[in-house]
Amino acid sequence: MQPEGEVALTCYRHPDTPTSLRCNRCGNPICPKCAVRTPVGFRCPDCVRTQQNRFYTGGKLDYVIAGVVALPLSLIAGYIFTFVVARIGFFSWLIAFLLAPPVGGLIAEAVWRAVGRRRSRYLSTVVLVCLIVGVLPFIALVLLSGNLLGLVVPGILIFLGSGAAAARLR
Ligand SMILES: [Zn+2]
Ligand SMILES: [Zn+2]
Repeated sequence: MQPEGEVALTCYRHPDTPTSLRCNRCGNPICPKCAVRTPVGFRCPDCVRTQQNRFYTGGKLDYVIAGVVALPLSLIAGYIFTFVVARIGFFSWLIAFLLAPPVGGLIAEAVWRAVGRRRSRYLSTVVLVCLIVGVLPFIALVLLSGNLLGLVVPGILIFLGSGAAAARLR
């Protein structure tokens, strides 16, 4: 039943789905399945995409640049964490905890500058992949030596480093 005075709306993407929601930007009727909750209210998927495209100004080449910058830095960080930090001894885990976020932030900063401060949706994903790929050879060496505890420090680098990088590149 439709209350008097109200026009029956149907989702603009699903003409069979009645709804009372409207996109608060363009006014298109949207069903709850299509509605995207944003900090400023419900929006239709088209408006959300338009908004994001304006936000992300980077091109595909930026991912290449990010990889070229982040991979060697990740290799260096992986080497230092595996062969220097992990061998400090008693405090190596603590030092890894303290050192991984700034190292991740530094890699992100280098990437951010290299791409000319343009935002891209998957920039932090590229850094994460580079961190994993950069640390992997050292993890393999540690595994070959049978020292499972030696995985903790490079693991901390990947998790905390990529977290800090993601926060920086958001
Ligand atoms: Zn809209
Ligand atoms: Zn819909």
